[in-house]
Amino acid sequence: MEELKNLLKKFGKINNDFLFDGCKNCEENSCIYHYIKLDDGKIYPRNNTCFGREETCHDCNILNKEGNYHHFGCDMEICPLCKKQLISCNCIIEGIFKS
Ligand SMILES: [Zn+2]
Ligand SMILES: [Zn+2]
Ligand SMILES: [Zn+2]
Repeated sequence: MEELKNLLKKFGKINNDFLFDGCKNCEENSCIYHYIKLDDGKIYPRNNTCFGREETCHDCNILNKEGNYHHFGCDMEICPLCKKQLISCNCIIEGIFKS
């Protein structure tokens, strides 16, 4: 997670106040953190409808099934605000939350 954080910081995706230390105690098949806060100050439900065609996610290994959440940092996650790939869109992420 430190590595991912440093990378995201480098690209300006997160700032110093970013609230999340990684998918600790996460379930293997679906991320337990269901909400994301963006720099517009709003908290959005994370996308749980976008998957590849394989049985499990090629990047974060969750079960590819509607209703499941990708682990944070997965390249399949779609931004709830701009609907582009979350790790490469222009939105700045302030935190990831359980509820
Ligand atoms: Zn997770
Ligand atoms: Zn994934
Ligand atoms: Zn976005």
